[in-house]
Amino acid sequence: MEIRTRFAPSPTGYLHVGGARTALYSWLYAKHNNGKFVLRIEDTDRERSTQPAIDAIIESMKWTGLNWDEGPFYQTKRFDRYNQVIDEMLEKGLAYKCYCTKERLEEVREEQQRAGVKPRYDGHCREDHSEHSPDEPYCIRFKNPKTGKVGFHDKIRGYIEFDNEELDDLVIRRTDGTPTYNFCVVIDDWDMGITHVIRGEDHINNTPRQINIYKALGAPVPEFAHVSMILGDDGTKLSKRHGAVSVMQYRDDGYLPEALINYLVRLGWGHGNQEIFTLDEMIEYFSLEAISKSASAFNTEKLLWVNSQYMKSLPPERVAEELKWHMDNQKIDISKGPSLTDLVLAQRERCKTLKEMAEVSRYFYEEYEDYEPKAAKKWFKDNSVEALERSMANLVNVTDWDVENIEKAFKSVAEDMQVGLGKVGMPLRLAITGCGVSPEMGITMKLVGKERSISRIQKTITYLKAKKAEAPSA
Ligand code: GLU
Repeated sequence: MEIRTRFAPSPTGYLHVGGARTALYSWLYAKHNNGKFVLRIEDTDRERSTQPAIDAIIESMKWTGLNWDEGPFYQTKRFDRYNQVIDEMLEKGLAYKCYCTKERLEEVREEQQRAGVKPRYDGHCREDHSEHSPDEPYCIRFKNPKTGKVGFHDKIRGYIEFDNEELDDLVIRRTDGTPTYNFCVVIDDWDMGITHVIRGEDHINNTPRQINIYKALGAPVPEFAHVSMILGDDGTKLSKRHGAVSVMQYRDDGYLPEALINYLVRLGWGHGNQEIFTLDEMIEYFSLEAISKSASAFNTEKLLWVNSQYMKSLPPERVAEELKWHMDNQKIDISKGPSLTDLVLAQRERCKTLKEMAEVSRYFYEEYEDYEPKAAKKWFKDNSVEALERSMANLVNVTDWDVENIEKAFKSVAEDMQVGLGKVGMPLRLAITGCGVSPEMGITMKLVGKERSISRIQKTITYLKAKKAEAPSA
């Protein structure tokens, strides 16, 4: 049997990390079994579903690499099919027309509340066969079994059972003719041949209702796995309060999709103590049974750690691809400096996110505005002009502008001046980058380029001399 899973978001907002993790688990389960992963957009709630939300979900799925084999299917395009099944159910006596007015339903509810019983539809129209006029409004209800139990073996949580008595006759088509959510899901999963429904635990209560509909239709009942929710680091349900929760926000904050996926897979699933997985390993080891029943707490520190691991270990060309977005976003013209692959190799040990990497790399592509005040105060000393002049004199003569030759050129200055390397290297760093922190000076100058390095040193010498001339003599 081909394993078929699906991700079925309601497009009422962006894709958040909880949804992304559910999608990931469905995706992995399909991949692990050489099956198919289907994307379905559950847009029946027309008031709350929006096109920007659909676009955001699709963008997030693409960015994280959760590619789907079929779809996206839209529920709003399938109304004819749902209504066809409902008509057949009416004919077969599996469903019935309910003419109860709002007022009547309200009265029944109040009475039940007074009697201390759980409010539910009392089944009036299921039994009442009196004639109604054609213009009287009605909805259609599913004839839920009245007795017995309905249960399922949840792949994560074990056996879960409900009394049919607890479930009332679900409305499957509203008075306005539109089919309802719980019904559409069943018809979709049936038509799309879904074998495993992996979704959030907030749907556990829908499952018995859906199973009863499958059974009435003679459709195969899929397996179910309900994934626990994600909590914020303070133990409450993950929400906007906890900072970034939309998947694309993590892109904006400088995470690699590979790192986010690795972090999310571990959030509620494990394989021994392993923390970092290649995608192939995730696919190979993944199982629904190893997903944790308890809620998991989101931990941004750990995500940062995973991200820095990936920045260091992925091929630099791949990191560069993602970095490009950040450079563009920060309006850094990358045609004016080193290749992004070279930049990644120079910076990846020092940065935890791509956003940070872009922020601290501007000087490779454009002139800096000013010297970082703290570093300038600390490192521009009386002998800095001499150190820079000597360095420049040596550097001008470097014909083969590579790391080794560059280093030799300025390291010999420290020896000649009989000072520590910092007294030469740090003014040089400030001259080349404007800041007190950068990759090693050899690689930094190589990437900045000879001409630009020399001109920045010259500019700094001029600046320091002017500053000295201005300073009141002691
Ligand atoms: N559309 C539902 C949601 O976004 C998912 C339903 C399902 O997976 O069965 O929560």
